[in-house]
Formats: sequence, C-alpha cells, structure tokens
Amino acid sequence: MHANVKPKPKAKLAPKPKAEPQPAVTILGTTEQADGDWQLLQLEKRLDQLTRMIQLRHRNRPERIVWAQQGHTSKVSRVDDQPTGPIPGDALVTNQTGVLLTVRTADCMPVFFESEKAVGIAHVGMAGAVEGLVPKTVRALKRYYSVKPEKLSVRFGPHICASCYRMSVNNDDYLAKHPEAAKYVTSRGHHRYFSMMDIISEQLAELGVTTMAADSRCTYHSAGLFSARRGHGDQRQLSFIMRASTSPPVDPNA
Ligand SMILES: [Zn+2]
Repeated sequence: MHANVKPKPKAKLAPKPKAEPQPAVTILGTTEQADGDWQLLQLEKRLDQLTRMIQLRHRNRPERIVWAQQGHTSKVSRVDDQPTGPIPGDALVTNQTGVLLTVRTADCMPVFFESEKAVGIAHVGMAGAVEGLVPKTVRALKRYYSVKPEKLSVRFGPHICASCYRMSVNNDDYLAKHPEAAKYVTSRGHHRYFSMMDIISEQLAELGVTTMAADSRCTYHSAGLFSARRGHGDQRQLSFIMRASTSPPVDPNA
C-alpha cells in the first residue's frame, strides 16, 4: 500500500456539446374522452399505453415522456436531459427530439408552440393567462433556442370558450386584484364571462407572433371532451407535443 498516494485528480468532464437542433417534424394533439382520463394519477400508471398511442397515431415513438407539475403558476421550464417524469411549472420547452412534453386540462387551455428549432406546451387558466405564462413561454423559446416570434406557430387547444367561462366568486376576487384583465370580461344578464382566447391572442400579437390557430371545440359544450365545469371532476384530456426526429433509425447491426 502506498500511504502517500496522491488522491486522483477528479476527471474533468468535457464540456457538453451544445445541442444543435436536428431536422425534425412536430407531432402534437389532444386526447378525447374516448381515449380515457389522463389526470396525473392515471398518466403515471399509463405511460406505456401513451407511448403505444403516440406510436400508432403519429408513427413515432417517444423516447421520454415528461409532464408539467401544473399549479396555475407562470413558470416555464426548459426540458433538456430530464428523464421521464414531472417537471416544475406550467409550461415546458425543449429543442430535443423524442421528448414528449405534456399537460393535462379540462376547461383550461392547452397551448402549443411550434417552430423549426424548438417546441413548447403550456397549461393556461385564468391566472396563467392574466399573469403572462404564454408570453413568458415565447420569450423562453427565444432566449434558449433563438426562436423568433415571427417564426413561431401557436395553437390553442380545446378549452372553455368565452360564452361558457362564467366567473365564480373566486374568479371575481382574483380579477379585483388584476384590474388590467377587466377588458377581457363581458357581462350577460347577472353573470360575467372571461375570454382566455382574447387575452392570449393579444399578448402574442404584441410580441410579434402572427401565426395562430385555435381548436374550435369548447370543452363545456363538446360532448366528447372532459369539462370540470360540466361535472367531470378531476378527469382530464392530455395534450402533447414532440419534436420527432426525421433521421432514419440507427441499425444496431451496422
Ligand atoms: Zn363554450
């Protein structure tokens, strides 16, 4: 034994190569009632089923599945090498291929962000809309992946529409603290209604996003979708987006 052996110098890790965007196509979608309930407890149990569903419908197998922890925050998380599992925040962005980014919604709005360089997804309710989760996601895509807002395509998934999103006492209390949101509220009869679409599309336009599309289905009055306000409790749709690599699969015998 050499008592005076110097401790081995720690192996220096080579700097991680900067992940270059690879050629990719984007796949995205939202499940329906017929696809089952994807609330968190179900999602965790049904990851294999989700992988098969994506593979069957989109001809591409996710390598990893991640989900936003979701707490009506305005936090955006960058997803790089995280394994399958939960990620803090209500919006996720990545430029990696094969990573399925997911959020769960019933009446809230899933928002999809698509570009050649990176993708993102957000779970947006009234607080997320008013507190700017969507513009924060656009800025994160620009900061991390140099995605220009004018090169970004944003889609609004199925959500409760402005005719159905009747304000509760809690909503009223919330809006009292955010008077800037009052212009997105309309009154009909004794009730007041909030438009998530109006506020979000205005925020996007201000940032220079010009390509926007919306799923015309309202969760509250579409029979095939879960709606918490229509009595579906904790049941949720799953929305997902993934950069799918277009490179041919590697032949392990080559
Ligand atoms: Zn509606």
